[in-house]
Amino acid sequence: MSDTYDDAGDGERGRRLVAAAEQLFTAGVMSHSGHANLSARLDGERLLLTPGHVRGLRAEQLATVGFDGQVLEGELRSVSAEIIAMHTAVYRARPHVGTVIHTHSPSATAFALAHRPLPCRTEPMLRFGQAEEVPVVPWGPRGSDVSVRGIAEVLDRCPTTAAVLLANHGLLVFGPDPEATAHLVVAIEESAEAEIAAAAIGGAVDFPPGAQEAVRAAIARVAR
Ligand SMILES: [Zn+2]
Repeated sequence: MSDTYDDAGDGERGRRLVAAAEQLFTAGVMSHSGHANLSARLDGERLLLTPGHVRGLRAEQLATVGFDGQVLEGELRSVSAEIIAMHTAVYRARPHVGTVIHTHSPSATAFALAHRPLPCRTEPMLRFGQAEEVPVVPWGPRGSDVSVRGIAEVLDRCPTTAAVLLANHGLLVFGPDPEATAHLVVAIEESAEAEIAAAAIGGAVDFPPGAQEAVRAAIARVAR
């Protein structure tokens, strides 16, 4: 395995993306349907994308797609073709993002259904790269201009967020590589679950003032 994701070839990126998908099932953060789509950035405005299923996925089943939506290699089910723009909107807005993961993780999706941003109030969320609340993107039919524009607008308004909730739909998380992005999906789902559990016993409490800012500053220092 390459030391950095930047050095990884297309084949290695595919294998790591498939391993990240497995990690989500192992961690128990998938919805009953097992629905998800994952992508990895390749050079030349191309990406690897899951073909329409992720359970039991093999690396050779990943499709290569251009940022313009054209399938360059492999096959995509029509349902997956609809979501290409959702992924490319993130890659266009965030040049350092290497992986995008979309799931219907149940507790995070509960926040998306309630149109409630998910606060950052747990240690894993803070540590795994989301030191701020996860904002909500207004609903639009998946892959539609309305939905994609909504994602772009929220990314513009929240320049350091590494995730968004898609109203009445699910979760979209992005990071430098497949492993870090999958870890953040797990941290967000755990946090959403804990928020809902804490609501029954008086409600979750914020970190002390300055905690999130300090972690954000540390992350920015490492990224430089
Ligand atoms: Zn979805």
